[in-house]
Amino acid sequence: MSQTQGTTNAAQFVIDPTERTTLAIEDSEAVFPVNRLFCIGRNYAAHSVEMGHDPDKEHPFFFFKHAGAARSDGQFPYPPKTADVHHEIEMVVALGKGGRDIAVADALDHVFGYGVGLDMTRRDLQAEAKKAGRPWEVAKSFDDSAPCGVLVPASLIGHPEHGAVVLKVNGEVRQQGDLNQMIWKVPEMIAILSQYFELKAGDLILTGTPAGVGPVQRGDRLEGTIEGVGALAVTVI
Ligand code: MN
Repeated sequence: MSQTQGTTNAAQFVIDPTERTTLAIEDSEAVFPVNRLFCIGRNYAAHSVEMGHDPDKEHPFFFFKHAGAARSDGQFPYPPKTADVHHEIEMVVALGKGGRDIAVADALDHVFGYGVGLDMTRRDLQAEAKKAGRPWEVAKSFDDSAPCGVLVPASLIGHPEHGAVVLKVNGEVRQQGDLNQMIWKVPEMIAILSQYFELKAGDLILTGTPAGVGPVQRGDRLEGTIEGVGALAVTVI
């Protein structure tokens, strides 16, 4: 365990502490330690419409996934208690620096890098939760619900503002969009989140998905690409 979280080698845990989730980094032996996953809802107009809503520039909303939701071995275990798990391809923003009340103009200084991720969703449970006015956790924050690819440092690729976002399932294009279609841009998301939470180095932001979400089945091969960022290949097991 790291000593930077207020623990010391002398600390005695009564149970084994949870192992830190990490993501690989392009061209590096070092790994990225994952803290929390913040996800934004309905950040592409066309996806907002397909989910039955009007695109909204006034009120972004966020939900969490726990750190253990991030999985990077290219496998997505089909989760229990659902018959309708959907893929949502999203650009992942990895924060290298935290803070509160971060200004939009300073926000990108807090970004370590970017990656390709999936916000896997139990759509049937989400629909029930929406109908009942209940929280989304069982639909969104289940174990392994956020397959993530290798992170690419911003020092290598800059801060992508446009670029094709494509998800293929078994070779067939299912989702297609462009980073420039995001309603809330990366600096705005960081600034707004930092008004509600003290952001921490290690936090990830999943930036929303373009249109074309749909169900997956065991055995499906998901291949996501974000132009200028990278790729992710995941098998549903
Ligand atoms: Mn999503």
